[in-house]
Amino acid sequence: MVIMMRMVDLILKKRNGEPFSQKEIDFIISGYTNGEIPDYQMSALTMAIYFQGMNEQETSYLTEAMVRSGEQVDLSMISGQIVDKHSTGGVGDKTTIVLAPLVASAGIPVAKMSGRGLAHTGGTIDKLESFAGFKVELSRKQFIEQVNRIGVAVTGQSTNLTPADKKLYALRDVTATVESIPLIASSIMSKKIASGADFIVLDVKVGSGAFMKTEEDARKLALSMVNIGKHLGRKTIAVLSNMSQPLGFAVGNVLEIKEAIETLKGNGPKDLEELCLTLGSHMLTLSQRVKTFAEGYKLLQQKIKSGEAHNKLKELVASQGGDANQVDNPYLLPIASHQTEILSNKSGIIGSIASEEIGTAAMILGAGRATKDTTIDLAVGIILHKKIGDKVSKGEPIASLHANSLDQFDRVTQMIYESILIEDGDVELPSLIYDVIE
Ligand code: URA
Repeated sequence: MVIMMRMVDLILKKRNGEPFSQKEIDFIISGYTNGEIPDYQMSALTMAIYFQGMNEQETSYLTEAMVRSGEQVDLSMISGQIVDKHSTGGVGDKTTIVLAPLVASAGIPVAKMSGRGLAHTGGTIDKLESFAGFKVELSRKQFIEQVNRIGVAVTGQSTNLTPADKKLYALRDVTATVESIPLIASSIMSKKIASGADFIVLDVKVGSGAFMKTEEDARKLALSMVNIGKHLGRKTIAVLSNMSQPLGFAVGNVLEIKEAIETLKGNGPKDLEELCLTLGSHMLTLSQRVKTFAEGYKLLQQKIKSGEAHNKLKELVASQGGDANQVDNPYLLPIASHQTEILSNKSGIIGSIASEEIGTAAMILGAGRATKDTTIDLAVGIILHKKIGDKVSKGEPIASLHANSLDQFDRVTQMIYESILIEDGDVELPSLIYDVIE
């Protein structure tokens, strides 16, 4: 006798805290992707998962089912093994723009599929469009050919990558079920695995500007993703990094590109450089390009010092139709028509910088998208002049606004004052890297 599976029974099962089998998860994901399972039942199930969780095995089955829901990119024509890096998202996070050419200059092929930004977080693909003429959509053939020719390519995500995740993420977004660790872990890992990575380095952000506000939650998320990697045969490392203040000083597309270029020349902000060298060294060790983390770190420092990393960015930009002259002369990138300094209204020490609010302020200036259809203004954004622990005197600039319209100036200025807290006494400096989970 054949027993028919019914979604209502599976919702009840999860509501009661019981684990699913692989067959049950496949039934749910294929049924939801092809429209046989309606949104109202899937919403009930995601809420049950939110409260009851999923074990390691279930989370891996879920990831596999989402990988199988769409295209699985075959990068076997690329010589060498592919190491991918993923950040769980933050403010001022331009690490991919630095890391892709940096790691490629050390001889590791970088075949990167990246996304656009939404709300207070920016997207690599938007940032790269700052270079005049830069093409962010490469055909699969162009993508593979470019990685084999110059060692690096960055393209938008294929439209048919993990359609189950796309549909499920949109549903979670409107049903208050985004913040579930097994759902986030499977969502991120399914996209990485479907895009062909052999090894994965994850940058899991912790703090006010990140999904995970506490170190404890970030650690659980990191462990869950490392375990999925283990179950599905993709060696994965997760670095827990601080997002309690924006990374570097620049927030906004062109402004971040300029900061990334400076970092590739060895003149970048210390926190950005340190994070890129850390993530990059793990990429080199995972792919066995070097034996130890310290060896990788030294090699990457040399690639910056010798100018090879900077040259690799030029090659990348030129190969994708962009104006490589802008890499040598960043002042040729678009500039906002208004630039105004915000002056400190008191003396003291910078105690905290609310990342999410800074990201939102940049978005209001036009640097980010409030909805998927917003057109962004590449030139606008915010440059911070201080980081946590820096001394500041009354009347000294704490930030600069770059804008093409004065409409939102007063509102954004107020937001900056509210986001940057100045203390009278000592301030504890946050660590940049909390831990590495292997
Ligand atoms: N990023 C993703 O790709 N998926 C999530 O669920 C959350 C963050």
